[in-house]
Amino acid sequence: MADNRHRWYYLGHDRKPVGPLSLEDMLDAWIHGRIDAKTSCALHGADGWTNVGKTPPLDRFAQRIADGKLISYRCKCGNRIIMAASHCGSLARCKNCSTVFLVPDPPGRDEAPASPSTWPRQTEA
Ligand SMILES: [Zn+2]
Repeated sequence: MADNRHRWYYLGHDRKPVGPLSLEDMLDAWIHGRIDAKTSCALHGADGWTNVGKTPPLDRFAQRIADGKLISYRCKCGNRIIMAASHCGSLARCKNCSTVFLVPDPPGRDEAPASPSTWPRQTEA
């Protein structure tokens, strides 16, 4: 896990850096409101802090996150998967471990309790 995808940091509310995180973890934090477009972030080795909403490739996701069109799912293998909300309720496959899972609804929407046998167990606090 030492590739560049796991080298993101952001400044938390206490102004302390949080990280290193993968790009998917950054998007997850954004989707769940732990950070927003104005949060300071940096890629490992960057000269300084820039806003999440203006930093490539994060900036590409700004509008879709603001519109609630992206969701985040963590597979039981630990792989973080960012998907379009249009996939909610359908089946998807983890590229890391090939587990098939039911794509959950976006945060803040109806948390439809699917049958326990198919609903992915929530491992996130
Ligand atoms: Zn997996």
